[in-house]
Amino acid sequence: MTRFQELAKQQKKSEGEVMLPSLPRLQEALQELGVNDAAALSGMRVHYQLQGLPPRYFGEVSLPMLSLKVQSELPLVCQRCFAPMPQAVNLVFEYALCDEPPEALLEDEEVDWLEPDDEATVESLVEDELLMALPIAVMHEDACVSLQQSAGEKPNPFAALKQLKLDK
Ligand SMILES: [Zn+2]
Repeated sequence: MTRFQELAKQQKKSEGEVMLPSLPRLQEALQELGVNDAAALSGMRVHYQLQGLPPRYFGEVSLPMLSLKVQSELPLVCQRCFAPMPQAVNLVFEYALCDEPPEALLEDEEVDWLEPDDEATVESLVEDELLMALPIAVMHEDACVSLQQSAGEKPNPFAALKQLKLDK
């Protein structure tokens, strides 16, 4: 029995936090989106909650069920001016565990199908879902501000004054 099947059967909860360095595929995807602030990358954490649910019927078949909640803040940057634009993510999934999904499960849009796999870890599942939820074109809605302070720095009041004058 895999860990996921065990959790589902016992209807237990597994909760924890993963740091980005444990999610190398996600880290790479973020870097490809221009996120190169080492502190933002190494500080990013993902909170997850995996919970076994009572089995549910899909057609004639009763299947073990799991729910997954994923919360994080992606340290994304604007694709035009590369200023930090952190995006909060709050994802909720429901999975039915089985080798062969019955028709009724494939038709169910609320529930995903998860194949029991000895290799599968919470980390890899969380990483897969975050990769799929990753917005690819984050951008300031209006024009980008020309004077951007770098991440973590306080805005320079003189720069802001200068900007005000320029705006007039
Ligand atoms: Zn921008």
